[in-house]
Amino acid sequence: MTAHPQKVRVLESYLAGAWRPGKADGKPLLDAATGAPVATIDASGLDLAEALTWGRDKGGKELRKMTYHERALMLKTLAQALMDKKELFYQESFATGATRKDGWIDIEGGIGTMFAYSSKARREMPNTKVFVEGAVELLSRDNSFSGQHVLTPLRGIAIHINAFNFPCWGMLEKIAPALIAGVPCLVKPASQTAYLTELMVREILATGILPEGALQLLCGSAGDLVDHVTGQDVVTFTGSAATGQMLRQNRAIVQNSTRFSMEADSLNAAVLGPDVTPEDPEFDLFVKEVAREVTVKAGQKCTAIRRVIVPRKSIEAVSEALQKRFDRLVIGDPRDDTVTMGPLASRDQVTEVEDRIADLKAEAELLSRNPAGVSSDGAFAGPVLLHCADPLKAEAVHSVEAFGPVATLMPYDTVDEAVELTHKGKGSLVASVFTNDPGVAEEAVLGMAPFHGRVMIGNRMSARSSTGHGSPLPMLVHGGPGRAGGGEELGGIRSVKHYMQRTAVQGAPHLLGAVTGRWISGSPGRQDTRHPFRKSLAELKIGDQLVTGSRTVSLDDIEHFAEFTGDTFYAHMNQEAAERNPFFEGRVAHGYLIVSFAAGLFVDPDEGPVLANYGVDNLRFMTPVNAGDTLKVQLTAKEISPRITADYGEVRWDCLVSNQKDEPVAQYDVLTLVAKDWPA
Ligand code: NAP
Repeated sequence: MTAHPQKVRVLESYLAGAWRPGKADGKPLLDAATGAPVATIDASGLDLAEALTWGRDKGGKELRKMTYHERALMLKTLAQALMDKKELFYQESFATGATRKDGWIDIEGGIGTMFAYSSKARREMPNTKVFVEGAVELLSRDNSFSGQHVLTPLRGIAIHINAFNFPCWGMLEKIAPALIAGVPCLVKPASQTAYLTELMVREILATGILPEGALQLLCGSAGDLVDHVTGQDVVTFTGSAATGQMLRQNRAIVQNSTRFSMEADSLNAAVLGPDVTPEDPEFDLFVKEVAREVTVKAGQKCTAIRRVIVPRKSIEAVSEALQKRFDRLVIGDPRDDTVTMGPLASRDQVTEVEDRIADLKAEAELLSRNPAGVSSDGAFAGPVLLHCADPLKAEAVHSVEAFGPVATLMPYDTVDEAVELTHKGKGSLVASVFTNDPGVAEEAVLGMAPFHGRVMIGNRMSARSSTGHGSPLPMLVHGGPGRAGGGEELGGIRSVKHYMQRTAVQGAPHLLGAVTGRWISGSPGRQDTRHPFRKSLAELKIGDQLVTGSRTVSLDDIEHFAEFTGDTFYAHMNQEAAERNPFFEGRVAHGYLIVSFAAGLFVDPDEGPVLANYGVDNLRFMTPVNAGDTLKVQLTAKEISPRITADYGEVRWDCLVSNQKDEPVAQYDVLTLVAKDWPA
């Protein structure tokens, strides 16, 4: 193994359009493994109020010129550019104490989160500047006054204060949803590992992909940053509960009702089901997962397993199996590729972890402690396994977080008791239960859920594809109640919405439609001589409408459809049985026959700009159709979303099928792909 000579960098902050050093001599940041200086950091004398104003004015304005899809595509391009540079980040990441595997979570996991948000936003959000949420609420009998929830980007800035353990992922998983929402960001990484974040921000800005003002960086102490927030800003904090609670009470945050989201530490638990014996695959899976969670990133993970909750009879077997795995670890400088566990982030962290182990020892006996066994210049610590004999009465083992490779084994006698033990963490990011018994899974998960943001069930079937206890995923909630901070950082498009204001807009349907860019039922439609299916996206307008001719449904039609499809359900085929049914007065037409006849009425058959029908949404049958009823259709272009990267786009049509009495029979959205251009 060779120690790589490192150039000591003076970290700078990127604020108000320029890279700026602090005014004082910087505090040295040391390589976690070698103790050699890596960088110095200082933020004194920087004008943070000016930076916030600059971000809001410049970055916000530029971002809001774009649609959700444009911003999402911008992130995809950025993620690709960062992936091309990943080796640069891996090299820098070693100094934080991360092995290559640890670095993968931080670097590629972070970039992957950006990719995931980009594609999710383009699939689940419209290519517009306003996000329409939920259905239109009818607020009047005559359909002249309606309501609709819309979300628009906040006009402020997102301040992201991050923890030291994920200098890349911590930044990327937060800026992705904020930028998609259209809100500029100012990132404040934890000082200890800020050199890696700084390097990545330099690369991000050098690509020129983000508009000026969209991303700023503060390296060093936060100073008076949070004192300047407004009610349009968002502050997200990831770190220790103590700092988070202090920030939450900041005067400006309280006075302006600034959105504040906190992801704090938590004492995550893993439960071994009472059904599992050492011979079952779930036993090995459990032990493997616990060992991994205790040692990945040397246990410096917010989701790491701290409490290992095991049936009383299995305590010894689990302890021995864990010990075997800990004994196989190679602890050392992560630049050596035989090393499987690196050091903690700093010598201070080693001291901190030692102090917390001492706290835990008040209630738990030491079962084993692997030697760190490497140079005293580095921040090395070996895994520590404790055992708490009476965890229901204990407090410290459920509340003291040793942010390192430390876990406490605790016995339980019933599932109910195991669940109660997980609750004693007072709210955690994640818990897992390893069982192959559906009854145990149900009891444990429903019992633990109110105290957790995520619960993972491990068993033999999911083992080959499971993403594991410790991995927050972009599409699922990351955050937990109570002690864990009460925030929800990730969770699909939900986290994009954290950066937008939800507003209930009320008014006449056609004016609501003008606001949302959607045609709303009750608005006038526009009919002309051309069938709307003959119009490309260049010509089609929201509100273009077709009212079809009519078709009478006969008993022959119903019987023909029944025989042809095989759907001979009694309500279509047997008059007496249909009459006994509480909803029908006699034989009724199939719902799918109505939908098929509707298509027959509204479709224009010739080759044209409508390329495909890819589904229907919200299909409802409202009035039964009997033989002799006459159907007609009103089809209206409701929403038009051209794709940026294709020569077609989606068109959503409102399809209203009614009978001879003008009663609505069925209503649904028809989803089509339509060419952007088509020769006349
Ligand atoms: P920390 O000491 O609370 O620091 C977190 C962040 O807050 C750092 O950027 C820190 O900056 C900043 N900070 C400190 N004082 C501040 C103030 N007065 N005003 C504004 N910002 C301030 O936590 P840490 O030691 O970096 O992180 C370890 C903890 O984070 C662990 O407890 C872990 O469980 C938790 N964590 C939670 C999650 C999660 O998702 N829930 C993820 C990772 C870590 P400086 O570094 O410059 O002081």
